[in-house]
Amino acid sequence: MLKVELRSLEQDEVVLQEVDLAPKLGLDLAPDLSTGPLEICCRLTKTGDVILAKGWVKGKMLLTCDRCLQPFESGYKSFFEVQYRPEADEKLEPEEDDEECYADSSVETIFFAGDMIDVADEIRQTVLLSVPMRALCREGCRGLCGGCGVNLNVDSCQCTGKPTDDRWAKLKNWKPQ
Ligand SMILES: [Zn+2]
Ligand SMILES: [Zn+2]
Repeated sequence: MLKVELRSLEQDEVVLQEVDLAPKLGLDLAPDLSTGPLEICCRLTKTGDVILAKGWVKGKMLLTCDRCLQPFESGYKSFFEVQYRPEADEKLEPEEDDEECYADSSVETIFFAGDMIDVADEIRQTVLLSVPMRALCREGCRGLCGGCGVNLNVDSCQCTGKPTDDRWAKLKNWKPQ
């Protein structure tokens, strides 16, 4: 599971290693975002009140190519780093907080309550951030022809160089009976 008891962190760092499907790991992810097992590695270390979690997620997701509109599977490996601090710390003024020296302000902080750290949210977030802004099924995808709509990776264009007028596209295959 993706939870660690604070108690076990008092002694030493804890390394979480999981390879399983998102639902089994308790990750509420759309099926498209996780088309196979997720490999997760997360190292947790406790310094003072602050727990630093650092690791990576590796998996595959189903994307749609921006050019040819075909679905394709894409692999990724994404890194994350986050620090967990007890909820009680949130109310402290920074100058009163002598634990501040342990907290790194460049790392996202999550406040937690109780005696468990649950990294599931962070893993889910990392997967969501792995979705690329632009997706191409392959380097130099040739896309769809603007005229006949054929997938140029698979077929050759039927337009024979003539500029097509979309208004007549439906008539092109029409045959008198
Ligand atoms: Zn494509
Ligand atoms: Zn064409």
